[in-house]
Amino acid sequence: MPELPEVEVTRRGIEPYVRGRRVLRVDVRSGALRWPVPPELDQTLARREIVEVGRRGKYLLFEVDEGWFIVHLGMTGTLRVLPLASLPAAAKHDHIDWIFDEFVLRYRDPRRFGAVLWHPRGAGPVSMHPLLAGLGAEPFAPEFSGELIYRRTRARSISIKQALLAGDIVVGVGNIYASESLFRAGVRPTTAAGRLSAARCARLADAVRATLSDAIARGGSTLRDFVGSNGESGYFQLDCFVYDRAGSPCRVCGTVVRHLVQGQRSTYYCPRCQR
Ligand SMILES: [Zn+2]
Repeated sequence: MPELPEVEVTRRGIEPYVRGRRVLRVDVRSGALRWPVPPELDQTLARREIVEVGRRGKYLLFEVDEGWFIVHLGMTGTLRVLPLASLPAAAKHDHIDWIFDEFVLRYRDPRRFGAVLWHPRGAGPVSMHPLLAGLGAEPFAPEFSGELIYRRTRARSISIKQALLAGDIVVGVGNIYASESLFRAGVRPTTAAGRLSAARCARLADAVRATLSDAIARGGSTLRDFVGSNGESGYFQLDCFVYDRAGSPCRVCGTVVRHLVQGQRSTYYCPRCQR
């Protein structure tokens, strides 16, 4: 499943192509995604210029003068830029093409858990869209800080790992990134969220940013997967400290990495580095 780093790398990969360019038309071959694709999408977007490609959580936000079309990649979605001159015929799961003058932005999604939606400017800022309004802080925004983690966890008895995964404090920390961030912060994943000190919350916020930054940087070298190829993209090959390394020595101290299950998700940690 594409996580925040993959979505951010997709954004960076396609924005230079589409920003400042006009959509000529939109081909919706199949609008049956997680929610129906708006039937008027072609009419709404025809001749509109893409002003900017933003991101909120795992949602890509394509801004035009009249509003935003929002793309979520779901479990298996990809967006690729393909040259019009040598455009491959649409395959079975290539549901939508945005056709520009020299290239096509193509959305493929075999499992159809993704979404393409429209948010008109008249409905207010895109951040008010019902799917976006309740999201936690962006990990790279100033509002995400140790202070925020501290404040938002005081009354919570759940573990800090589950608090991170919940997505209402900070977005983008999926299962792999939660284990890795907690390792970098030296925090045991089972620690009750409400008992984490302010200083440790600050270390954790830094660790979340560092972990996601590393993943995005690593993804930069796979940009070709998003532009002009038919490659399927999965998780970036993170050089994990603990994730999926149960029984192997900790890369920092050599202690055997342990595995446990929290909320039906696998957690990995070093019992010596994380207390
Ligand atoms: Zn260790």
